[in-house]
Amino acid sequence: MKRLNWGMIGGGKGSQIGPAHRMGAQADGNFALAAGALDHDAERGKAYAAELGVAPDRAYGDWREMLEKEQARENRVDLVTVATPNSTHFEITKAFLQAGFNVLCEKPMTMQVDEAEEIVAIASSTGKICAVNYCYSAYPMVREMRQMVARGDIGKVRVIVVNFSHGHHGDAADADNPRVRWRYDPQIAGVSGQFADCGIHAMHLASFVSGDQVRELSADFASAIPSRALEDDAMVNFRMEGGTVGRLWTSSVAIGRQHGFDIQVFGETGGLKWWAEQPNQVYYTPVGGRTQIIEKGEGGLSGEAARLSRVAIAHPEGFPMAVANIYVDLAAAIRGEPHGAFPTAEDGLRSMAAVHQAVASARQAGAWVDARPPSLR
Ligand code: NAD
Repeated sequence: MKRLNWGMIGGGKGSQIGPAHRMGAQADGNFALAAGALDHDAERGKAYAAELGVAPDRAYGDWREMLEKEQARENRVDLVTVATPNSTHFEITKAFLQAGFNVLCEKPMTMQVDEAEEIVAIASSTGKICAVNYCYSAYPMVREMRQMVARGDIGKVRVIVVNFSHGHHGDAADADNPRVRWRYDPQIAGVSGQFADCGIHAMHLASFVSGDQVRELSADFASAIPSRALEDDAMVNFRMEGGTVGRLWTSSVAIGRQHGFDIQVFGETGGLKWWAEQPNQVYYTPVGGRTQIIEKGEGGLSGEAARLSRVAIAHPEGFPMAVANIYVDLAAAIRGEPHGAFPTAEDGLRSMAAVHQAVASARQAGAWVDARPPSLR
């Protein structure tokens, strides 16, 4: 099987998400890193690309140069990953999609709802893939949960409780550290801090696992560290199209919670629980019965959970391999082969609408508002 050519923008040396993309894209032999504009500092980016084995003529100092030169090549990249800071996602994703490239964009896909609508429209008119890296949806046991819900194992879903609450920005003495401060600065982060950063992962997971979409929401935002203009803690109540009640808590001041991402789904005949820090297990409790632990790698799992597990039972795979699962399905889609679900620009659009509507709700003391983007109402 011929490897696909892969390009990366951002994700330079020392970046947070870059390594997960490099491990993920290359884990199954589907993609080879062929080109990159990896850093905001052109020379650093080129040097790091060379270190990673990118040929000198495809180690670019800038994404515009990469776009121009890749377009002119016969063996142009088959997929471009955008892993730069948030405010650049729209411009870069739009330019590459319009030029006929497939794109995997980091979340949030854009800063504005109309920008997200534009990306969805461009992906649709060009027929190119625009995926968004909601990688938690690609953990094998999340797929198992989704299948259990779809199969009716817990009956109609009544309530979803989802948290993405960590404590890594909880130290007030560190609040002015430039690596922390920008996240709560509207000039750089946009209209929302913690909800746009982590809350949208949680909301996406609630939709993915339940197979339903958020219809309306009510938000309470707080800046627990008062110098922050944007929220570092948010409680978002939501209702889904099918009537499910959602409770979402996201925080960056929850000291003691580490990654802090967990989801519980409560149905009429049972409940399910998954926790990103123990991702190999799903807890299942049938009504009136005992709690059972369903383990990645054991017999009888759904096809999706089995397909996306690589190593034997009880061995961890974890975050980079969840990202790898997104790339597995992207590779199949690019090759025109059957593939599983991956998050798309439409998911990115729904998130951006939810962010802006949550901000509007929080400003109106938690008034209930329509969470959907205009085009999907
Ligand atoms: P970071 O600050 O650690 O790294 C950003 C990288 O992008 C750096 O290497 C920087 O030099 C480079 N860069 C900046 N501007 C650039 C430009 N114009 N052209 C080329 N390179 C440029 O940031 P991070 O934490 O890795 O986050 C990057 C993105 O990934 C953000 O949008 C973030 O929301 C997202 N993210 C997603 C997840 C996830 O779970 N899906 C996790 C972490 C971060």
